[in-house]
Amino acid sequence: MQYQAPANDLRFLLFDVLGADKLHELEKYADATPDLISAVIDEAGKLAAEVIQPTNQPGDRQGCSYDPETKSVKTPDGFKQAYDKFVEGGWTALDAPIEFGGQGLPHTLKFIVDEMVCSTNLSLGMYPGLTHGAISALFEHGSDELKNTYLEKLISGEWTGTMCLTEPQCGTDLGLIRTKATPNDDGSYAIEGTKIWITGGEHDLVDNIVHLVLAKLPGAPDTTKGISLFVVPKVLPDSGERNPAFCGGLEHKMGIKGSATCVMNFEGAKGWLVGEPNKGMSAMFTMMNEARLDGRHAGPGPG
Ligand SMILES: Cc1cc2nc3c(=O)[nH]c(=O)nc-3n(C[C@H](O)[C@H](O)[C@H](O)COP(=O)(O)OP(=O)(O)OC[C@H]3O[C@@H](n4cnc5c(N)ncnc54)[C@H](O)[C@@H]3O)c2cc1C
Repeated sequence: MQYQAPANDLRFLLFDVLGADKLHELEKYADATPDLISAVIDEAGKLAAEVIQPTNQPGDRQGCSYDPETKSVKTPDGFKQAYDKFVEGGWTALDAPIEFGGQGLPHTLKFIVDEMVCSTNLSLGMYPGLTHGAISALFEHGSDELKNTYLEKLISGEWTGTMCLTEPQCGTDLGLIRTKATPNDDGSYAIEGTKIWITGGEHDLVDNIVHLVLAKLPGAPDTTKGISLFVVPKVLPDSGERNPAFCGGLEHKMGIKGSATCVMNFEGAKGWLVGEPNKGMSAMFTMMNEARLDGRHAGPGPG
């Protein structure tokens, strides 16, 4: 059955119930006129029906595959092409900050687009979904240097992002994490530990994956008050070197098999602190709250 976006219902909800027809009266959202919002709904509906939905059922049947030799993950046929069209259309940048190449439109509009993307292929929607969370966490808590290094490419969709919290011995109770961050001489940290159930941890849609990782600094309290947040890229942006953050395998799931849910091994990978030491939980909540609002994540805890 061909997906048909509920465009008129969305317009009714946005304009007649939620008052989104007045958003353009706010200086920040001057561009978000009812005509523009309406056009975004129609275009997103077309993309969802024509590009994204056809990848859904075959993608779930085929699933992602893992190559233990190269530690790489292949997404189902057609995912890369659909993701590229999503990126070309500027959909990853819709509500992102203008100063880093985003379009600065209201978040409400992004949620409408998410609704269509996730209705037509949840697995595919999770790659840009987690990236959006990484953008928000870096934008809110990252230093200017980190923002300048990562935000533009995450917003353009050239790179994707992850959220690395869960470990084999802890899901909900993150105070139990064991991943360690040891200071290097150059201001970076060596990240060591294993994360599990990491959405988009490894895949072939883009060349670089930016992991946001919870880890503990030496001597940190043994509770959630001792957790810090680090940005750990798959490929180091300055040198182009491969960072030792490798996928150790794929989790087996009942559905959303086109979403690469990965075991990730950080083997002394280079990372940089995001925000204050030991304040990682509050920084990560920027990301987790978004994932929860999106409703993309099945996990009872952070994911
Ligand atoms: C499809 C999918 C994608 C995911 N993606 C990510 C991701 O991108 N990044 C990531 O870090 N994780 C991810 N996760 C992991 C997910 O966030 C975890 O499953 C979640 O944190 C719960 O952990 P757990 O499965 O170990 O359950 P547990 O922590 O064992 O919890 C099981 C149940 O026990 C309850 N419980 C646990 N401890 C207590 C307590 N002390 N008191 C009372 N009740 C308690 C919980 O509320 C829950 O109902 C993903 C999971 C799935 C299924």
